[in-house]
Amino acid sequence: MDVIRVPHVVQNTCSALRQKGKSVGAVFTMGALHAGHMSLIENARRENDFTVASVFVNPTQFGPNEDLDAYPRDYEGDAQKLRTAGIDLLFQPTDEAMYRPGALTTVSVGELGSRLCGAFRPAHFQGVATVVTKLLNITQCTRAYFGQKDFQQVRVIEQVVRDLNMPVEIVRCPIFREPDGLAMSSRNAYLTPEERAAAPILHKTLIEGAAMLKAGRKPMEVEQAMHKALKQSPLVAEVQYAGVFDPESMEVLREIPTTGNNGSALLAGAIMIGSTRLIDNVLI
Ligand code: AMP
Repeated sequence: MDVIRVPHVVQNTCSALRQKGKSVGAVFTMGALHAGHMSLIENARRENDFTVASVFVNPTQFGPNEDLDAYPRDYEGDAQKLRTAGIDLLFQPTDEAMYRPGALTTVSVGELGSRLCGAFRPAHFQGVATVVTKLLNITQCTRAYFGQKDFQQVRVIEQVVRDLNMPVEIVRCPIFREPDGLAMSSRNAYLTPEERAAAPILHKTLIEGAAMLKAGRKPMEVEQAMHKALKQSPLVAEVQYAGVFDPESMEVLREIPTTGNNGSALLAGAIMIGSTRLIDNVLI
């Protein structure tokens, strides 16, 4: 596995492969890799001739009072996992290589980036859309793999790719969970043992909400029930949102449509357990 820190070296390597007709699969991460990340990597490896992974804790997607400095970093351990998994190229840029002095351009997706998580993290999706656009350009990938754990993120990226005519296939991958249902996340490392024991409440509540919806209850009722259930745990410090959304526009759903989107709905939530922010979702 080659470890490359310089964007144009990755771009040249991957362009040459594309010109030879090889497919390039890419997985973009912020590191502290867990089994959820590795499942994306397995998919990318299986479906492409050459596989690139990136590890970059992108400063522009963190708000001023968020956990950029505390975000878990394990560059050596990550490189070892990626090597074992058979990744061909690890792109591990510095902040300076990614954001050169004088850079002015950002990518934003309007309303899509200001709903759900965007309402609580105002610059987050602009940071994500900008860095992923750069990573797609740098890796020249044929396919890029994203987890549905960050459902709004993958929707934002799909929108960017569609709106900007980018020649890449975005592949959605299922959520990897701990045995008790907690969605795997690098941020789970912040949880104290008591918080960790309480954390599966988010998934449990979304599952119960999905059952209510399937039983014919209105989205508003489901939303109220989910808020109530989450607030019952003394370790849930805040419910940022918990509701039923259109999985395409990410707007709040008042009714489950019978036409148009195949009757699908996204139950999604974001909570603070102590000072750790957890997100999760269930698509029905
Ligand atoms: P991150 O390092 O948190 O930015 O995540 C990098 C990629 O891994 C994103 O596409 C995430 O959606 C995906 N990912 C993170 N956690 C999981 C999980 N539990 N299951 C599946 N994919 C995940």
